[in-house]
Amino acid sequence: MRAAEIMRRYGIKPDKALGQHFLVDKNIIKKEVELAEVSKDDVVLEIGAGFGMLTEALVGVAKKVVAVEKDVALANILRQEFEDEVKAGKLEVVEGDALLVDFPPFDKCVSNIPYNIASEIVEKLCHYAKDTTLCVQKDFGERLVAKPGDKNYSRISVLVRFHFEPYYIYTVSRFCFIPTPKVDSCIVRLIPKKERVVGDEEKEGFFNMIRALFVHRKKSVKNAFIASRGMASLKKDEAKKVFEAVPYGDKKVFRLSVEELAELFEWCKGQKLNFSKTNG
Ligand code: SAH
Repeated sequence: MRAAEIMRRYGIKPDKALGQHFLVDKNIIKKEVELAEVSKDDVVLEIGAGFGMLTEALVGVAKKVVAVEKDVALANILRQEFEDEVKAGKLEVVEGDALLVDFPPFDKCVSNIPYNIASEIVEKLCHYAKDTTLCVQKDFGERLVAKPGDKNYSRISVLVRFHFEPYYIYTVSRFCFIPTPKVDSCIVRLIPKKERVVGDEEKEGFFNMIRALFVHRKKSVKNAFIASRGMASLKKDEAKKVFEAVPYGDKKVFRLSVEELAELFEWCKGQKLNFSKTNG
């Protein structure tokens, strides 16, 4: 499959609103698929398949590929270009919004995702917690792998580290894409963790607490909790009193590891504190 030819033949005009930057460098695509370690037994989810450059490489090695694409014209091109694979059940094209559709069961996710909704997609993939290899913008990729204390360690970094062991694999030049984006990209791999510090049934409360802290990520734990008191339905005086004794009170929020956050969550439960998603 040759990108330039397909784009000409179908008259594809990249739509910025859909984050369309097509990765057209075959060597990079090959390397990405190798690094994702896709095997013949794997059902692979691909989010934002475009006109199928990566899809083509994936159907070559996987048991089956499920390609989600929101752009109707591109979904039609996929069905046309991969008619045989679709007939053979090797490719399923799901035309729809990746943020709205339920993903069918899959073993691995390998995708060059639309940049404008990258964090929402990663958040969604956290819930599935499968072996995931993504091409994303470089600065976003760096946030996904950021460690406690790094200046870009944020809520999404914690979310990722709770579910996965994240690895920055390599940088991809912006010139491997059509049209050329303003910044370089990178490949990251997220390997699911076997053990989690908080059980599934308590995950929601845990992540609400994390949200409350990380909106004030540069503050100390104590001051961040006080500033987010509305999320725990506390008045200022009450909050000041309660959080006087909080563990890691003087530590900056962006220095907290997932394990320390779990300790804080235990402490909050002991204080009968519940955080909601919104303030007040
Ligand atoms: N993976 C392709 C295309 C990357 S561009 C490649 O590497 O060349 C991002 C793709 O995601 C585009 O095809 C765009 O139409 C699609 N897309 C954008 N928003 C989407 C959404 N909400 N759900 C599914 N696909 C989406």
